[in-house]
Amino acid sequence: MRSIIEIITAKRDGKAVTAEEWAYIANGAAKGTIPDYQLAAFLMACYCRSLTNAETDALVTAVRDSGKILHVDGGGRPRVDKHSTGGIGDKVSLICAPLAATSGLCVPMIAGKGLGWTGGTVDKLESIPGVSLSLTPERFQELLDETGFCIGAQTDDIAPADRKLYALRDVTATIDSIPLIVGSIMGKKLTTEADGLVLTVMWGSGAFMHSREKAVELGKALKRSGKANGRKVIVLLVNMDWPLGHYVGNLAEIIEVIKFFLEGSLESRLWSVVRATIGAMLLAGGLVKSIEEGMGWLVEGEPEGRMTIGLHEELLSDGFHSLLDYLEMLDGLARLKELMATANWRVMGTVKAPHAGYLLPRDCSLIGRALTELGGGRTKLDDKINPYVAIECMAGIGEKLIAGQPIFRVLDCDGEVALTAGQVARAVELLKDSFSIEEIPYEPPLVWEELK
Ligand code: URA
Repeated sequence: MRSIIEIITAKRDGKAVTAEEWAYIANGAAKGTIPDYQLAAFLMACYCRSLTNAETDALVTAVRDSGKILHVDGGGRPRVDKHSTGGIGDKVSLICAPLAATSGLCVPMIAGKGLGWTGGTVDKLESIPGVSLSLTPERFQELLDETGFCIGAQTDDIAPADRKLYALRDVTATIDSIPLIVGSIMGKKLTTEADGLVLTVMWGSGAFMHSREKAVELGKALKRSGKANGRKVIVLLVNMDWPLGHYVGNLAEIIEVIKFFLEGSLESRLWSVVRATIGAMLLAGGLVKSIEEGMGWLVEGEPEGRMTIGLHEELLSDGFHSLLDYLEMLDGLARLKELMATANWRVMGTVKAPHAGYLLPRDCSLIGRALTELGGGRTKLDDKINPYVAIECMAGIGEKLIAGQPIFRVLDCDGEVALTAGQVARAVELLKDSFSIEEIPYEPPLVWEELK
């Protein structure tokens, strides 16, 4: 096998790296035996020269095998996982995992932390004091047996190579490389041996893939990798020109999820993605014949049994219990209830429509950046985040607004770290640049579509 310098040189010059060498790189990243500067140079060479399909497959296998495999027992139910390529306000996993579990699936989910201006499911759940998603394989299975789903963090045991490589990519401008994203997502996702996988591939100004074309390319690469590994992969392209849901911010998003289960209503774009994702999960698990049929499961039943948004009451209530059991088993339920009862959210700043017109998205990433400015997001993998800050999105894209109508509110929740006036002012400036108000009506792109 070539030395690390020879491997970097080969990639720099556009030559392929062998499967043995990918395994060496992944193990070196996981164990810390290859220094960061060489890994960083290698990643940049991969970014610039790209990878062949054979190399991408080798990377996926190498990332998967850099740690343990969770031999998840679905107890006879189809095992279906779900993953998002990263968005803003994206709490789809938190809603879909318990609902899919109560619909008959086993949902083993290895989730990631948010990076840059995208949020992560792990950060949202770990914003509940006392909750840690670093689970042993035995604990992961226990939670799965009890609640039908388990969201666990990628730990030192699970695809550790990805942790290292992802953190380095984030600080070396090499995140948005299609083969590297495939290696990262599929390498992690294959560790649970799930039979099916639903991937929401985000596109737009709030996603890594800005254009729909790039998202299609990524989606196809993910599907190809799934097929190569004998997995059924369904890709939903989701528009991320505006956040999903009314809140962006870790604890606020958890509360938004709990309120959904309690009240049965959800912001319309988020609801649309939730329904499609559950439909796709049921399809990936072979329980229905089409996404539409799966979506129908959520609204079927007696008309009087329906909630305002059309969700079947029993399913909602069972899904909620499953979520509460999961939080209880993670020792988070009591603290969450206490927080919800006592939290005092304060409005620290408001952004209003400067004049009447239609709301157009300009740069959704600025909304994520505004949260990071408030301390609610990370710029490095080991940054501590403040879960008690949030941005409330009070208007939807394409909406007709009157002059002075509030579009965003900056919130904090008497947390330990008080926001400074400077932080709030900088966040407000970023939020002001994230949209424009136009005279001509705006037709937003489809919220989601299946990639065929
Ligand atoms: N999500 C991941 O898990 N990895 C990436 O590289 C991008 C999004």
